[in-house]
Amino acid sequence: MSNEKARSLTEQIEKNINSLADEIDAVRKSETFLRWLNAMALFPTYSHNNQILIFMQRPDARRVAGFKTWKRLGRHVKKGAKGIAILAPCVYRKKGEAENEDSTTVKKLFGFKVAWLFAEQDTDGAAIPELVYSATEGGDELLSRLEWTTDELGIELEYKDIAEPGVQGYSCGGRIVVRATLSPTETAAVLVHELIHEDLHHGKNRDDAKQKTRNQRELEAEATTYVVLRHFGIDHVASNYLATYNVNGEQLHASLATISAAAKRLIAAIEGDSSGTETVEAASFEENRAPA
Ligand SMILES: [Zn+2]
Repeated sequence: MSNEKARSLTEQIEKNINSLADEIDAVRKSETFLRWLNAMALFPTYSHNNQILIFMQRPDARRVAGFKTWKRLGRHVKKGAKGIAILAPCVYRKKGEAENEDSTTVKKLFGFKVAWLFAEQDTDGAAIPELVYSATEGGDELLSRLEWTTDELGIELEYKDIAEPGVQGYSCGGRIVVRATLSPTETAAVLVHELIHEDLHHGKNRDDAKQKTRNQRELEAEATTYVVLRHFGIDHVASNYLATYNVNGEQLHASLATISAAAKRLIAAIEGDSSGTETVEAASFEENRAPA
């Protein structure tokens, strides 16, 4: 990469990080985001075993909740809807003890009972606030170049159904998995995000990455994704994802050096400019989870 090209790329990256910082700060204050946070707080998280049970019964389910939770969200379960069976723990409380869910009293587990959940598709009523996580169009050409790049870097890429709702992809060090049902542009965004995790948080950088919080790693991966996609002319939406990880504009500025270096390495690799590339090595696990 020539000095002049490197300089203009640095300027472009800095400019984009500044706009992203403004976008995140605006999202965090927005009505939509606060409504979304309130709604998501009502969705329980399920154990790994229950997530598998849900996936086996309704592979297309994105959000699931019990009858009462849907009601609190202003929705009702449609007549004739088929429930999804999961196992709910039965806990024992001493007679006379207050039925308070927040009680810190130790409860004794004595078994499991079947509980029924319903998929969002089987409910009707008030719309659930949605956050957009990615552009949906314009990334077809970039995707084929990214698939080529992934292969060049010696990283295995697999498209498949992912059981855990909301997880669009993950990287396990030398291997990236992306949800099979995304649009080419969404796939490109997830792939870039995971390639950055491979570069910054696996292989030789794995020990450094362990010192970072989950939020810091997501900040680095997603902000770099934004910068890389903008470089290729795609207006990726990163602000919502980053806001869900509690990232603010100031933290973004503080991470500029890492983001800028990672973006330059990946852009050079995609453009086939080997003078800017470094080998990306393998190990461990990092997922791309947009909560809910
Ligand atoms: Zn991630």
